[in-house]
Amino acid sequence: MLPPLTACRHGPPAALPANLIRVALDLPLPRLFDYLCPGVSSSDLGRRVVVPFGRKQMVGLIVELPTTSDMDPAKLRQADTVLRDIPALSADWLALAQFCASYYQKPLGEVVMNALPPRLRRTQALAAPATVWQITDAGRAALPGLSARSAAQRRVLEQLLDGARTAAACTPPPAAAVLARLRHNDWIAPLDAASHAQENSESGHLPRSADGGIGSGSGNEIGTKIRFDAGHTPNAEQSAAIAALQARLGSFSTSLLFGITGSGKTEVYLHLAAEVLARGQQVLILVPEIALTPTLARTLGQRFAGARIAVQTSAMSDMTRTRDWLAAQSGQADIVLGTRLAVFCPMPRLGLIVVDEEQDASFKQQESLRYSARDCALVRARNAGVPVVLASATPSLESWQHAKSGRYLRLDLTGRAHRQAAPPVVRMLDSRRYPPKDGLSEPLCEALQARLQRGEQSLIFLNRRGYAPVLACPACAWVSGCPRCSAHLVVHLGARELRCHHCGHLQRVPRQCPDCGNLDLQPFGRGTQRVEEALAERFPEARLLRIDSDSARGRDKLEGLLTQVRDGEADILIGTQIMAKGHDFPRLTLVGVLNADAGLFAADYRAGERLFAQLQQVGGRAGRAELPGEVLVQTRYPEHALFRALARHDYAGYAESALLERESAGFPPFVHEAVLRAEARVMRDATRFLDEAIRLAPADRDAVTLFDAAPMSLARLGGWERAQVVAQSGSRPALQQFLRAWSETLYAEAERNRAVRWHIDVDPIEY
Ligand code: ADP
Ligand code: ZN
Ligand code: ZN
Repeated sequence: MLPPLTACRHGPPAALPANLIRVALDLPLPRLFDYLCPGVSSSDLGRRVVVPFGRKQMVGLIVELPTTSDMDPAKLRQADTVLRDIPALSADWLALAQFCASYYQKPLGEVVMNALPPRLRRTQALAAPATVWQITDAGRAALPGLSARSAAQRRVLEQLLDGARTAAACTPPPAAAVLARLRHNDWIAPLDAASHAQENSESGHLPRSADGGIGSGSGNEIGTKIRFDAGHTPNAEQSAAIAALQARLGSFSTSLLFGITGSGKTEVYLHLAAEVLARGQQVLILVPEIALTPTLARTLGQRFAGARIAVQTSAMSDMTRTRDWLAAQSGQADIVLGTRLAVFCPMPRLGLIVVDEEQDASFKQQESLRYSARDCALVRARNAGVPVVLASATPSLESWQHAKSGRYLRLDLTGRAHRQAAPPVVRMLDSRRYPPKDGLSEPLCEALQARLQRGEQSLIFLNRRGYAPVLACPACAWVSGCPRCSAHLVVHLGARELRCHHCGHLQRVPRQCPDCGNLDLQPFGRGTQRVEEALAERFPEARLLRIDSDSARGRDKLEGLLTQVRDGEADILIGTQIMAKGHDFPRLTLVGVLNADAGLFAADYRAGERLFAQLQQVGGRAGRAELPGEVLVQTRYPEHALFRALARHDYAGYAESALLERESAGFPPFVHEAVLRAEARVMRDATRFLDEAIRLAPADRDAVTLFDAAPMSLARLGGWERAQVVAQSGSRPALQQFLRAWSETLYAEAERNRAVRWHIDVDPIEY
């Protein structure tokens, strides 16, 4: 309908342009952009479109086909091309993006471009995908009998046995004639058709669950090609958890699967995934670390024969990530495994979301779109009407509180699944009684010695890489500070460098004190390199292996180091948090923890929770199989409640006391928080912006408390001074409403104040 004349703000009432599109662009502006787009149809909603913006071309997403525009019709520009290279993004997908935009106070275009794989953010369309070939049963049958003359065909078939692939992905790529012959013989088939042909010929099916209910009635053609290797028979607790979770399939719910490392949580969600796959649905599994995906992907491949597994991490090549993303979007991929960004992977048949190690900080992105993948997973699951399983040995206090209040169903696994494996014995070594020499106390050294004699492995855990956290001059007050951050430069031995672990600043270790010329500069404290040095001196016969992000730069490098450990090529490992998670080393029986006390009295109220999780995780590395494990923690505070709970393997007890503290201090999860941060070259500009922001804040905010502007704990980062204002409320909707109104004024204020960068961080975990 045409708007009345008076409502038309721009000039004479020209005939309204048909074929309008409303586009989300990756710009820091809280609005959408209208373009003319002749020939557009409703099937283009959710497609990428290339549009002119200023003098550039940008790619955006068509999110609406409006009938009217607020823009002056004369100024409406024409879109260049609608990219129809891939299917349009679904309404579900857009709904998730829209939720993120509104909840995290970000323009929709920024959310969309953050959520798409990088290749799909480019203005060029994807080339038409090459056919993916799969071996058929006939091909499988023919393979053993192929004569030497058919070597080229044999090579292709053998590679297809390991998984479907394009001709170009075979080595060497087959000649067209070879491919034609294989096709003619029906030994290979395009992936889609093959999966249908197979569905009736495969003998193996997913096993029926105890109640006989698996996939019954809904025997979906996609699910039935998958065979699940059920592995161990689940123990009583696992069976109970599996049954409870199975009963919740098909609608939204959140369950908290709580059990120590090795209690068999993975087993539980694999069994549940089997049921979901049998129903012909897709499973999304989120893990905190890129490093965990190869191992888990391999396990999934082994346990779910015939399932197509897509991986989504930032470490993948553009093409691989896009290919897997498209496989998920088309519904071909059965399981999507990835880090936080995988929560945005489109899955039309989604049936289950698993978030493993749900408490992990890496699920929260700390830049641009500051989303929590765990929380987005819950929203996504609610929209899709499917359950979420949060798995953890040390759940976040937020999730713990939800389980207490009954919003989440808590399922406990109390023992270790592997019958012989008892939880490790955790002991505190009082540093006052056993003063460490070069960082290592006598009882720890004795324990290391015993492992060496028995041919077992040990891990020294220290969450600080480099040689020493600071270089200092004993003659004057000089310390190695980063010129761009309020942080010390860390001494690194190999290259004799000082490095900033926050901004990457690098410089040579100075020969003398820059202030007083003293030649005797001293490293203070110790990092992994220095501990390695001390261990080498103390145990000259031991084979040492340091695993931190310096020694394991690049994914393959880490895999290589971990393989060395598994192959028994190292006696003592020195590792940072990179070693704490997921990895399973059967001969590792001792974990020594250095410098744990740093986390006890940190200003950040989440530090304790994180320390507990980390120590529990790293302790979980000890004694996974037949050999009993021991964890020794060097500390000056052996009586601290956190350590005592750790020694009792009592996360529940720790969580209860930590929640009481949070409640009385008025911290999350008992209040909801958001922060407004400002960054400027000088602190005064940042705080002035924040003071102004406080002044401009919506007046009717009974339910929201605003605190004064204050510098962040790392006040200077990469040359930017940083300050923030915390907003708290007992009501999430009230906080949301407040933020929405506030951010509108802030966009206007920032226009006037170009010296400042600002953002809102909802549910922040960094202060
Ligand atoms: P989590 O995910 O809780 O760390 P996993 O599921 O990885 O635990 O199980 C730990 C180990 O115990 C694995 O090696 C797994 O194969 C084994 N395991 C799991 N469930 C059982 C079971 N019911 N019986 C025997 N071993 C099991
Ligand atoms: Zn000096
Ligand atoms: Zn720095």
